[in-house]
Amino acid sequence: MADQRTVIIGGGQAGGMVAATLRHLGHPGSIIVVGGERWLPYERPPLSKALLRGSLEIDRIFLRPAAFYAEHGIRLLTGRRVYAIDRTQCLLQLDDGDALGYDRLVIATGARARRLSVPGAECPEIHVLRSIDDALALRETLLPSARVLIVGGGFIGMEIAAVVRSLGLSVTVIEAAPTLMARALPPEVAAFLAGVHVDRGVVIHTGVAVRGFSPRPGGGVVAQTSMGPVEADVVVAGIGAIPDTELAEAAGLAVDDGVLVDEFGRTDDRRIWAAGDVTRHFNPLLGRRVRLESWKNAQNQAIAVAKAIAGQPTPYAELPWLWSDQYDLNLQLAGVPLGNEQLVWRGTPDDGRFTVLGLSGGTPTLAITVNQGREMRFAQQLITRGAAVDPLKLADVRIPLQSMAA
Ligand SMILES: Cc1cc2nc3c(=O)[nH]c(=O)nc-3n(C[C@H](O)[C@H](O)[C@H](O)COP(=O)(O)OP(=O)(O)OC[C@H]3O[C@@H](n4cnc5c(N)ncnc54)[C@H](O)[C@@H]3O)c2cc1C
Repeated sequence: MADQRTVIIGGGQAGGMVAATLRHLGHPGSIIVVGGERWLPYERPPLSKALLRGSLEIDRIFLRPAAFYAEHGIRLLTGRRVYAIDRTQCLLQLDDGDALGYDRLVIATGARARRLSVPGAECPEIHVLRSIDDALALRETLLPSARVLIVGGGFIGMEIAAVVRSLGLSVTVIEAAPTLMARALPPEVAAFLAGVHVDRGVVIHTGVAVRGFSPRPGGGVVAQTSMGPVEADVVVAGIGAIPDTELAEAAGLAVDDGVLVDEFGRTDDRRIWAAGDVTRHFNPLLGRRVRLESWKNAQNQAIAVAKAIAGQPTPYAELPWLWSDQYDLNLQLAGVPLGNEQLVWRGTPDDGRFTVLGLSGGTPTLAITVNQGREMRFAQQLITRGAAVDPLKLADVRIPLQSMAA
């Protein structure tokens, strides 16, 4: 092991966690992280929250300080990209012409922001938010008089709307689907969240498509939409992410909306693992493959991969979970929404805090808490237990969720 080299492609959260966990487990071999960005491995959630607001320093979002990598003999090649994987020779081609050999390889290339593909989408006023550099560039444009148009009412779009509105700027959100955050939230919960934004002055148009942009004389753009023109000084496209699977695909690894891996993060090449947003992994709890874009998945799948490489294989078998912060509102979601669950409400939107459980065939499979994080743990236990529950009991807020989960 000591003379073996592990190379990690991608210096994001998953890549950084694999490297740090390997050392934590006492892994003796050499570890090299090749990261396309100029920054130390970092966590992205603050990009659309405190970092964008300007209330958090950049170095607070790094996974570990620079000294950690030096002290633990982890070589970070930042600002460098892997261009190709040669699986026959176990060699990586770097963008500067160098080659790098590996004994074990981890693909942690994450995902990139999907860009708008309409005429005028290349206007400099149109931003995406995936990286620290994106956040810094966007923050610079948030001048007090700027009118901000957000295309896409998903989690990231609505978090940006909350920050921008809190800074006092005018914000319009355009979403093509009939409701906000439609991939994750039932319409009733989405309507509650839309109400929170509208109360704070965000203008929301759902069921509206953007068809193109043209520059305005004197600055800004005009967005051509299915409801007519909308003027803006700054546009943010929050229309999802695309997994960075091209390297793996070109190397002949199995890819299907994500690099296909098992519950240990193993690809179909015994020398290659993958972790984070880029994977579609087998989840033993759900009994199927899923591709997740969440902090917890990047963290814990990376830990499972490091354990497998270090010879301590432990399956990554967790209920998917994510959170979103918008204004003073905390939303958490566990499970993978199917869209046809029977919804049971504990509390009502009028209370400003509630839990919604989704039942499939009488069994809880989904949980959403709004400003009620303390119920999340018990809701997760109910889902993991996989037993049917009485919806009437579940809806009765006088019965603690804890007692039903026990
Ligand atoms: C703005 C934003 C807010 C978020 N908020 C939340 C939240 O509130 N809650 C939550 O649960 N999740 C949130 N997420 C999701 C979470 O941050 C991601 O799931 C997580 O960052 C995924 O980590 P990763 O390491 O797999 O990928 P990434 O973090 O995308 O890292 C991949 C890295 O690999 C690099 N790379 C790609 N190709 C190459 C190559 N060929 N050579 C070298 N390097 C390469 C990329 O440049 C990148 O630095 C948010 C994400 C974003 C973007």
